Amino acid sequence: MEKCTIIVPCYNEEEAIPLFYEATSEALKDMPLEIEYLFINDGSRDKTLDVLRELSEKDSRVHFVSFSRNFGKEAAMYAGLKESTGDYVAIMDADLQDPPELIPGMYESITNEGYDCVATRRVDRKGEPPIRSAFANMFYFIMHIIAKVDMVPGARDFRLMKRTMVDAIVEMGEYNRFSKGIFGWVGFDTKWIPYENRKRVAGKTKWSFFKLFQYSIEGIVAFSTAPLVWSSLIGMFFCLLAFAALIFLFIRALVFGDPVDGWPSLACMITFFAGIQLFSVGIIGMYMSKTYLEVKGRPIYIVKEKK
Ligand code: UDP
Ligand code: MG
Repeated sequence: MEKCTIIVPCYNEEEAIPLFYEATSEALKDMPLEIEYLFINDGSRDKTLDVLRELSEKDSRVHFVSFSRNFGKEAAMYAGLKESTGDYVAIMDADLQDPPELIPGMYESITNEGYDCVATRRVDRKGEPPIRSAFANMFYFIMHIIAKVDMVPGARDFRLMKRTMVDAIVEMGEYNRFSKGIFGWVGFDTKWIPYENRKRVAGKTKWSFFKLFQYSIEGIVAFSTAPLVWSSLIGMFFCLLAFAALIFLFIRALVFGDPVDGWPSLACMITFFAGIQLFSVGIIGMYMSKTYLEVKGRPIYIVKEKK
């Protein structure tokens, strides 16, 4: 029988894991696949590791990888994909926001309709602060314009993939990981299924607004170089403008003499251009800092315990 590995990144999920395990086992019990769980303990500070140890004692299909510290969900997903052995691989959150009862249907789409991957997207953002939704929508809008990979609004990390696609993703060993982009970049035929947002079953979300904001910058820098092009275009535009203004002032001075006035406008211009320059240097700096981290070639995660 073919095997399916379920990857579950966990960061402080002691309450959610038992509920997740129950619900998922129940939802998958009739599937014609051997199911294997691979929990990734991403440096949790609560009893997550104890819960995982206990679960793996009770059920031999439960495996886990425990990190030496918190490396982030991206690192946890990468570790899961790398360590997985199944012919099919699913990625699911521990908080049951990704409904396990969708998996049998997803598997059917792969086997009967010939897809390599079935991914999910949320059709609404109920229960989320409006400002966060607004920023999220803006992010997808910008990405749609500037990035060359297909990024679906509301896309979750919840998906079921064939081994061939998993191998392709594992081969992308970049340090600054933005999975939503990587999934699109590797290609393969993906079917998108929509579902309504659900509340977390227990525990709290690990994403603050600031963390999400940083993550979106990660996504832009990782999958587009458009900001660099923009800053050069803006620079060129203002050079031309300054040149035209110079000619204008020169002729005016020849015709009308040279009255000493207009310093407020000069002060404004200096501030304005200093702003643009810093902004552009900042953009370059962002790309450079990412390159710096990439060049160092540090491991994406460090394993402390495994079963
Ligand atoms: N997660 C993780 N490492 C982190 C943050 C989150 O492994 O540093 C896991 C978390 O345990 C959960 C999943 O990633 O299983 C999604 O996190 P969360 O539910 O907090 O995000 P949200 O659903 O609110 O976007
Ligand atoms: Mg969640």
